[in-house]
Amino acid sequence: MTLSPDTNRFHDIAGRLTLPSNAFIDGAYVPARSGRVFETLNPATSAVLGTVAHGDAADVDLAVAAARRSFKEGAWSRCAPEHRKDVLLRLAQLVRDHAEELAVLESIDSGKTITDCLAEIGEHVPTFFQWYGELADKSFGKVAPTGEDALALILKEPAGVVGLVLPWNFPLLMAAWKLAPALASGCSTVVKPAEQTPLSSLRLAELAMEAGLPAGVLNVVPGFGETAGQAIGRHMDIDVVSFTGSTEVGALFLRYASESNLKPVGLEMGGKSPLVILDDAVIDDHLVTNAVNAACWNGGQNCSANMRQIVHASLKDEFLQAVVEKVATFKVGDPLDPETQMGSMVTDEHLRRVSRYVETGKSEGARVAYADEKVRPDGFFLNPTVFDGVTRNMTIAREEIFGPVLGVIDVADNAEALDVALDTPYGLHASVFTRDMDKAMHFARRLPCGTVSINCFSEGDVKTPFGGYKQSGSLARDNGVEAMDQYVQTKTVWVYLRPM
Ligand code: NAP
Ligand code: MG
Repeated sequence: MTLSPDTNRFHDIAGRLTLPSNAFIDGAYVPARSGRVFETLNPATSAVLGTVAHGDAADVDLAVAAARRSFKEGAWSRCAPEHRKDVLLRLAQLVRDHAEELAVLESIDSGKTITDCLAEIGEHVPTFFQWYGELADKSFGKVAPTGEDALALILKEPAGVVGLVLPWNFPLLMAAWKLAPALASGCSTVVKPAEQTPLSSLRLAELAMEAGLPAGVLNVVPGFGETAGQAIGRHMDIDVVSFTGSTEVGALFLRYASESNLKPVGLEMGGKSPLVILDDAVIDDHLVTNAVNAACWNGGQNCSANMRQIVHASLKDEFLQAVVEKVATFKVGDPLDPETQMGSMVTDEHLRRVSRYVETGKSEGARVAYADEKVRPDGFFLNPTVFDGVTRNMTIAREEIFGPVLGVIDVADNAEALDVALDTPYGLHASVFTRDMDKAMHFARRLPCGTVSINCFSEGDVKTPFGGYKQSGSLARDNGVEAMDQYVQTKTVWVYLRPM
């Protein structure tokens, strides 16, 4: 196979990278107190990339102490907001300047395609630091209406030390989703990246220092959920936690909070999102491309993946044929090849978990409309599967698969489509395809989920809040002005005014 010149160039960059290996606490890279390390793999080759400090409760204590000290000193928490803006804008530019290096680092640590990593890190991550940096000096409090004898101020203050616990599917982007508003608000932070993908957030911490962030404001403790993650959840001196990950672990964070200092916990969790094709939709290339992306983008390792594709029976055959043709052209392979559309699954364990769901789908009676059994021996690769004849009670229609599996459920009419779409404990996302805007808006209003995209698959952008209803989330939202609410306290100052 011939590789494009860019593929070779990205492999060269990968070969020359210096990988971060220590935790980042109080402005410097430090080993774990215990001296222990864990390995991080390249899932596309199954080779060990290197070792990383195995942070646990002792390291979280150090990171929280540094964060608290910096918060109290006030060089960030009490500085002019224009200063926070300047630093975040510099950080945005530094990420852009280092985009290729960071994208390659992300790709080799996660198996994500270089094309996605370049888009996430070259464009979206800097946009987040820029947008929230710009918001830092444009976020106003309020004055409440009172009589002449009082002035009532409603102030927004940084919430304090925040713990940010991250998933592995969009490692640096999820870090930016949370860090950008937390830092813009003036908080100090302790980040726990996922154990599978610690490298990019460690490198980001160094760039943040270069941008002028004071030591102690951004700390990164790589480690495992049961130790470092739990230590954050239970810490008595962490004021707020924002978590993205599975619903199961999100529930643990509520327990940690209730058994420690009752810290507020923002939760962004799993989903089982529907994509609904109504009777009047046009099955064209736009729709099919969006439907395939909705299920298979990032190897389906996406919380808002629209795995349940609910299609009006009159359009089902046409849709299924077009989807199968599109999926068959999907290029699965070397993540560092810019033409690759799907890299590897994040770990061998996850690959096996997704494969088990495919087997369960078959054994419960779903029909395989597309599969490619070719196995790549060198890494944790999985080809997409398309199922037809899925029914709402099958395991694959109820549980989050988090892999490249698309299931078609056909329905007799639009009312049944809505009924099936609603039949889930999750509420993160939905897509609706129709030419009738009345029907589209009817669905948008009736679906209890945080984002509804119409005639496309979209999660919105930095300006629009993202989060889940039901078991997909708490009231917290990432993104948009609303994300700032996770990281501020509201204070009333009531001033008595002596009569003149
Ligand atoms: P996960 O297993 O819940 O892990 C998320 C984070 O929690 C990781 O840093 C993990 O550490 C930590 N953790 C695990 N067990 C813990 C415990 N007992 N106590 C404290 N922390 C613990 O989720 P994941 O597998 O990384 O990510 C996939 C999930 O994230 C999916 O369910 C997906 O839907 C969801 N997700 C949601 C959104 C959203 O915005 N709603 C976005 C992306 C992903 P380790 O890495 O050491 O396990
Ligand atoms: Mg890795």
